[in-house]
Amino acid sequence: MKPAARWPLHPAPREGEALSSWLHRVAACYQMEVRDLLEHDLGHGQVDDLDTAPPLSLLTVLSQRSGIERDRLRCMSIVGWVPWLLDSLDDEIPAALETYAFQCSVLLPRHKRKIRTVARWRAWLPRQPVDRACPICLNDPADQAILLAWKLPLMLSCPQHGCWLESYWGVPGRFLRWENTDAALRTAGDAIAAMDQRTWQALTMGYVELPRRRIHAGLWFRMLRTLLDELNTPLSMCGTYAGYIRHVWEGCGYPLRAGQSLWRPYETLAPVVQLQMLEAAATAIHLIESRVISPPGEQAALFWPEPQTGFTNGLPTRERTQEPINVWQEAIKAINEAVADARHNPETARSLFALAAYGRRHDPESLERLRAEFSKDGIPPAFLSHYEPDGPFACRKISDRLSDKF
Ligand SMILES: [Zn+2]
Repeated sequence: MKPAARWPLHPAPREGEALSSWLHRVAACYQMEVRDLLEHDLGHGQVDDLDTAPPLSLLTVLSQRSGIERDRLRCMSIVGWVPWLLDSLDDEIPAALETYAFQCSVLLPRHKRKIRTVARWRAWLPRQPVDRACPICLNDPADQAILLAWKLPLMLSCPQHGCWLESYWGVPGRFLRWENTDAALRTAGDAIAAMDQRTWQALTMGYVELPRRRIHAGLWFRMLRTLLDELNTPLSMCGTYAGYIRHVWEGCGYPLRAGQSLWRPYETLAPVVQLQMLEAAATAIHLIESRVISPPGEQAALFWPEPQTGFTNGLPTRERTQEPINVWQEAIKAINEAVADARHNPETARSLFALAAYGRRHDPESLERLRAEFSKDGIPPAFLSHYEPDGPFACRKISDRLSDKF
């Protein structure tokens, strides 16, 4: 008997839902297992990679049965996210990791990272399956859709509800048990929610709005993956920039590099380590955005607010200046920001010291007192060990930094 061209019942896919999840929900409408639906209704044997690269012939017949466009169905598996989320599903491309994760820089200058080559590598695809979901999204037993992004170590929270994704066992819609049954619903912190909202925007809109400008989703994923690798860089390779990495890990309360001593690509790390790395990435972005740290990476500036210069309100100059700018307040704010940066950035520490030491370079006692003051402010004395009191470069740097603020 020729099967019906269109299924009489089929739930609409949820935005971002994985193909396997949707097929489970379709099969459930007919009290069937997915493998039976595939075999007896769609003429396909067992398909292992429904969420990675389903055969085009299967997508064609699914489109006929559901009336949903084949391209939309394709985007319910990872292959539909090439080349935005990853360059290719081919895991035998030489230098794939270098191409993907070593062209951007956020926390460290590019030359500070040792370029790694890994055989059989694909961005974001974990070595072990990830079974995490939002407890609120799965609250309705009749409509338990699993999003494709939840199957990757890419997000920590639900973009809709802002709570942590939790680990589960079983098959949503049929049998599901949360790994931590006693856990109360955990609301994700602001830093995590902000990072995940951007990732969700990249997945659903194809771009991300950053403070400085809108960027393409492809750049967002590569920048995020870069950040994860920077946070896993051995400190011995970071030189004077190690302070940025240390500061971020201290900020999120986990051991350095989530306790890793040997370098391995993010995708092969244990799930618990991946989650800590993602949390550290969210912390790093928050620290950069709030100007607590000003790391030297090329893309770090994307998180800074746009400098407000060169615009007027169209009124004559005299009227425009009715609201006087408190220059001293601005200067104090700039110095406070410089002190915060100097705690982790030797270059800023030396520049700030040069400024503070102005006029005292022939007075060793006064310089010593100044060093003690800096130390009390949390600026490591080691940062000042090579200090040259009349180094013109140092003085120029701090004046540049201050003039940036006005
Ligand atoms: Zn949710």
